[in-house]
Amino acid sequence: MYQNKFTNNFGGKTQQRPNSGRTRFGGRSNAGNGGNRFVGGRNGGRKNRSFESQIDVSMFIQKAEPMIKIEDAKVKNNFKDFDFNPILMDNIKNKGYLKPTPIQDEIIPHILQGRDVLGISNTGTGKTAAFSLPLINQILDNPNKRILVLSPTRELAQQIKQEIRSFTFEMRVYVALAIGGAYIREQILDIKRDPHIIVGTPGRIKDLAKRRVIRFDKFDTIVLDEVDRMLDMGFVQDIKDIVSQIPTPHQTLFFSATVNRKIQPLIDSFLTNPAEISVKTQESSKNVEQNIVRVRREDKETMLSKLLHQEEFKKVLVFGGTKLVVEKLSVGLGQQGFKVGSLHGNKAQYQRQTTLRRFKENEINILIATDVAARGLDVADITHVINYDKPNNYEDYVHRIGRTGRADHQGYALTFVEDRY
Ligand code: AMP
Repeated sequence: MYQNKFTNNFGGKTQQRPNSGRTRFGGRSNAGNGGNRFVGGRNGGRKNRSFESQIDVSMFIQKAEPMIKIEDAKVKNNFKDFDFNPILMDNIKNKGYLKPTPIQDEIIPHILQGRDVLGISNTGTGKTAAFSLPLINQILDNPNKRILVLSPTRELAQQIKQEIRSFTFEMRVYVALAIGGAYIREQILDIKRDPHIIVGTPGRIKDLAKRRVIRFDKFDTIVLDEVDRMLDMGFVQDIKDIVSQIPTPHQTLFFSATVNRKIQPLIDSFLTNPAEISVKTQESSKNVEQNIVRVRREDKETMLSKLLHQEEFKKVLVFGGTKLVVEKLSVGLGQQGFKVGSLHGNKAQYQRQTTLRRFKENEINILIATDVAARGLDVADITHVINYDKPNNYEDYVHRIGRTGRADHQGYALTFVEDRY
């Protein structure tokens, strides 16, 4: 257990302090009990004006498991049951996909029928292929089909484009990107070639529409990916503007990890009689052991460095609250000889891409990032997520820790909680 390790290895100021209070979960939360995973628990009844008074991290940890709904849907179809074009079938096979994932199994037949769909699912469920495969098949049947895919972040848009391209090998199906932070000229040239699919972020798409490079009246299909994230990032008006300009009738594929009061009105106005599919994986927490690390603010950097020196911290994603913190940590750890990179909104797109590639290919094994830059990140073998700074809300917490423990590997999530003596 980490708990023992902290207590044994990190004496002095950063040591976990035995906590005299009972946790809200019943058990005693004292460090050194050798087994309680909710390290630290509540703050022992002390008055504390740090963020714990606003957000009790231990609540996240307690909730993280029961709130994730695991629907072990039985997969009914094989890919061959979808009657896909033989070249598409070959590409699926070459990609190594043997069976549809539950969301693919459920959603593909509806999309092929031209229905609107509401997919309640998070990343890691295979939702990119769930919408890409039937749409590519539709393009092969009807080369005039035009699809717009809206994604909250540049990285996710790029991931989607790459996945689509891996399925369109040896086909005359073209896809272009429309994302901020990258040269607009190249994108304009690509889009002027009239690709079948444009994948982009709302801001850049609107910009290209203003320049009359993108014409919304061409599209007959729109995919809204990670709508909850798009709303969090303030894209609601942009999405409404874009969708309202796509001629009706059109097919809408709407994906969100959650449905709440803010999202429901969009579902009601964008979707017509949708097929609703809810598939969530256990990725967010089932394989993730979650712990709190109590540490004084001034000791946080030292603590992080000590943790990263531990052998088992092989591939680590560290979340910092601001671009400034992220950059400072990255420079500091780099000076200590760690192989580290940083991702945040102030980085040019090519830098973000290079850093991500280096992390994926293990050229660096520590990535420091802000929430925004890490959205949708699909790196299979992250061993540890460290919340150096608190997440802002429960959704972000679950999203962050879901970056580890993927593909049935054991993952570890540590959240720094600022302690005051
Ligand atoms: P996504 O939820 O689209 O981000 O996908 C998560 C991961 O699952 C990606 O690495 C995909 O390449 C992978 N994946 C998607 N569909 C399948 C499938 N049918 N079989 C195996 N892997 C898949």
